Amino acid sequence: MRIAIIDADLIGRKRHKFPNLVCMKLSGFYKEQGALVHLKLDYEDLQEYDKVFISKVFTDTPVPSEVLELPNVTYGGTGFFYDKAPRLSEEIEHHMPDYHLYDDWVAKQLAAGGKKCEYTYYTDYSIGFLTRGCFRKCSFCVNQNYDRVHVHSALSEFLDVSRKKICMLDDNFLGCPSWKEMLDELKATGKPFQFKQGLDERLLTDEKCEALFSGKYDGDFIFAFDNVADAELIEKKMVLARKYTDRVLKFYCFTGFDRADKWDDNFWKQDIFDLFTRIEILMKHKCLPYVMRFNRYEESPYRGVYISIARWCNQPSFFKKKSLREFAELNEKVF
Ligand code: SF4
Repeated sequence: MRIAIIDADLIGRKRHKFPNLVCMKLSGFYKEQGALVHLKLDYEDLQEYDKVFISKVFTDTPVPSEVLELPNVTYGGTGFFYDKAPRLSEEIEHHMPDYHLYDDWVAKQLAAGGKKCEYTYYTDYSIGFLTRGCFRKCSFCVNQNYDRVHVHSALSEFLDVSRKKICMLDDNFLGCPSWKEMLDELKATGKPFQFKQGLDERLLTDEKCEALFSGKYDGDFIFAFDNVADAELIEKKMVLARKYTDRVLKFYCFTGFDRADKWDDNFWKQDIFDLFTRIEILMKHKCLPYVMRFNRYEESPYRGVYISIARWCNQPSFFKKKSLREFAELNEKVF
C-alpha cells in the first residue's frame, strides 16, 4: 500500500518549524502495517496513492479545496475542524510517532544552508501529550470540550530513548491530579524536557515549584498571563516561584481578543493599556513577556502599536536593554 502524508502547515507556512505529531503517528502506524509511507511536499499526483492523509494545526494554512474532494484523501486536525476535529482511532493516537518521517526533508533543508538549530524539534526531541484537556475554557482557546485535565498517554508511548530531549504539548499539565508522578517519571529519564504550550502559573504551589524547578528543564520556563484580571494571583505566584528559581520565567501574553465581543475603540485602547500593565508586572519580577496577538488585531486602529510592542517584547535582547520608546525610535516606528 502506498500512503502519502501531507503536513499542510509545512507546505503552507514559510517559517513553520515544528513536526506534526498526527502525521508522525499515522506514519508509524502504517509503516508497521508494511505500507510505503511518503511525506508529500505538494498536492500533485495524489491519485497515485492508495491513501492520502492531510493534517494541519493552523486554521489559516491554505489547502486547495479540490484536493479535499478526492476519494483517497482523509483530512483532519484543529486547522480544519478547530474544536470539532474528529479523533484519531485509539491505535493510531497511542502509536509511537515515526520520528524519521521528516528525515529527508530536514536533510534537504540543511543541505540548502539551513541551520541545524532550527530543526531540532525534528531531530532531537521525543514529542507527545502526557495529559490532555483543561478546565478553564478560555473563550479564545480551542480547548472547549473538557471539564478537567486527564492522563492521556504514558511517557513510554512516545519516548524514543535515542533522542536527547522531550517536548510535551500538554494543555494544562499542572492541572492534572497525577502531575507529580508524571514529573518524577520525566525527571528519571535524565533528559531535558519542556512544556511547549506553557504552564498554568496560577496553579503553582510550594510542592509544584520544588518539583518543577529542580528538574532538568529545557529552555525557559513558559507560563501564561493572558488576562489582566488575574494580575493579583499571577503576581502572588511569581513571588512564590522566585523562592525556588532565579531562571528566566517567560509568560505568553495573549492580546487583541475582546472577551465582551464588542471590538470597539474602547476595547482596543483598554486592551493595549492592560497589556502594558501585564508587562510592567512581569518586569517588576524579572520575567519576560512573549506577546501573542489574536489575528483580529489587524482590524485595530492601533495595529502598529500592537506590532511594535510585540517586536519589542518578543526579542529579549531588546526588551532587556531598551525601553519601548527607545526601541520604537531605533526602528523609526511612528505611533
Ligand atoms: S488555560 Fe490555557 S489551555 Fe486552558 S482553556 Fe485557557 S488557554 Fe486553553
